[in-house]
Amino acid sequence: MKQDYYEILGVSKGASQAEIKKAYRKKALEYHPDKNPGDAKAEEMFKSAAEAYEVLSDPDKRAKYDQFGHAAFEGGGFGGGGMNMEDIFSQFGDIFGSAFGGGFGGFGGFGGGQRRVKGSNLRIRVKLSLEEIANGVEKKVKVKRKLQADGVTYKTCPTCNGTGQVTKITNTILGRMQTATTCTTCGGVGQVIDKRPSGTDAQGLKVIEETVSIKIPPGVEEGMQLKVSGKGNGAPGNGIPGDLLVAIETEEHPTLKREGDNLHYDLYISISEAVLGSSKEIDTVGGKVRIKLESGIQSGKILRLRGKGIQSLNGYGSGDLLVHVNVWTPKELTREQREFFERMQSDENFEPKPEKSDKSFFEKVKDMFS
Ligand SMILES: [Zn+2]
Repeated sequence: MKQDYYEILGVSKGASQAEIKKAYRKKALEYHPDKNPGDAKAEEMFKSAAEAYEVLSDPDKRAKYDQFGHAAFEGGGFGGGGMNMEDIFSQFGDIFGSAFGGGFGGFGGFGGGQRRVKGSNLRIRVKLSLEEIANGVEKKVKVKRKLQADGVTYKTCPTCNGTGQVTKITNTILGRMQTATTCTTCGGVGQVIDKRPSGTDAQGLKVIEETVSIKIPPGVEEGMQLKVSGKGNGAPGNGIPGDLLVAIETEEHPTLKREGDNLHYDLYISISEAVLGSSKEIDTVGGKVRIKLESGIQSGKILRLRGKGIQSLNGYGSGDLLVHVNVWTPKELTREQREFFERMQSDENFEPKPEKSDKSFFEKVKDMFS
């Protein structure tokens, strides 16, 4: 059982973004691996706090978490679950500013030895049609990435000898204290630029345009974020590239409305079609489908086409397509038509006689959610 994200950060359910950020900053400093070397428990707390912050700091993810709990982030490549240390350090730039971010974005790896710098993340938006969401899609997008230019070389930083850190000894009222701080010469990378070809920035990086292929699984929703590892900006030296974060946007469908994995379609039929029965073409995410309407079908009837909804993101089956039958009543009638309906007013056949099977609207709604 995973601990509640609000409990981890020690904030209330109604906490503001500023309160959440402040609480996370406090926890991150308290459990930071550099402060608790070799302490597995602290590392666990550090990771949990980062995961909680990752979710609660994002309004969409927070809303999902509030509604579904941890289940909202299980499966798929979505942010929230299973953060690694590199993810955590890469979000530090936003939280701590330059104090942790160094010159190059953030640090991965810890506990002595060479630190590996990670390039910054890139963010793009991808707009999907309902059909693409239903079936999953592979999108090719052009991304402008900063990568190490051809011919650039790096050498060990002379200030820190490649450790990325410098040790300072200060005298305080408590005695002499030894503190390790990020090397300002290399920004913690441990390497500095040696040969820099023209047209590159101070880190030896150059903007290139690359086509990245993004596999989008079926069932995604507006506001979700996919991560394509290693397709963000590159890093100097022996650093590793950041990630490409893909925000999902959805296009409205002209006739189908989505509700979770189910789809709804409003079908309008004439009085004569309702009386005599009919066959109608309706839209589905797999193309048009013809459905049969029995004679005497009631307005308000919901026809359920099993499995014609959206494939579930967690891989468990598909939703249904619910066709809502609406009988269209004409506002204007010819004299002949008026006379016909006037005659039918006293006709017993036209008297409403709802049976048990003609459930009321409220019973149907209850059915749909049970
Ligand atoms: Zn250095």
